[in-house]
Amino acid sequence: MKNNQTMPQISFSADACKLSGFTAKDALELYAAKGVLVFLKEQMTALEVANAIESLSAIASNLTVLLASACGICNNCGEGCTDCDECQNNPAAWVQNCSLCHDLLDENQRIHIPDYLLEEAGIPADAKLEACTHEDSGEIMVTEADIQQDINDMPPGILSVLAASGVCLAELDELIMLERIIHGK
Ligand SMILES: [Zn+2]
Ligand SMILES: [Zn+2]
Repeated sequence: MKNNQTMPQISFSADACKLSGFTAKDALELYAAKGVLVFLKEQMTALEVANAIESLSAIASNLTVLLASACGICNNCGEGCTDCDECQNNPAAWVQNCSLCHDLLDENQRIHIPDYLLEEAGIPADAKLEACTHEDSGEIMVTEADIQQDINDMPPGILSVLAASGVCLAELDELIMLERIIHGK
């Protein structure tokens, strides 16, 4: 989203201006997207655009590292190997071979209830559901989940990068559900 409306008065430190190459003469443009506000010069040369791309990808990769380290590496969630022939030097296999992490990516492990039943129960069609049962009872109780955000809300591209890098998806799911602060205090 591009916004050319009059901006509130914002001041930047001299250091920040020097580093970014912004001067008092530069008009700024604000780009707002999910999770970020980015100021760019309203007029940019080819080199300035290239430098902006470089800086934005550096920020993106730092944030990816931050997210990955907050989750840690999948160690088969405590119950298996990361050092058999298949797992060795193959981080993607760690997540593939971890049933806990793998199930989180598996569409078939999600609860699907027909819309008319949800409507009858007064549960919104897009609500996340949870289910419980007692052994051999022949009954499954499905309710609207208390926590309505989880790993399924992750941007798919980032999720597959993390999975391919052997990052523990079970931990990621928990960080999202508990809304843990992973950057800053
Ligand atoms: Zn795991
Ligand atoms: Zn293995």
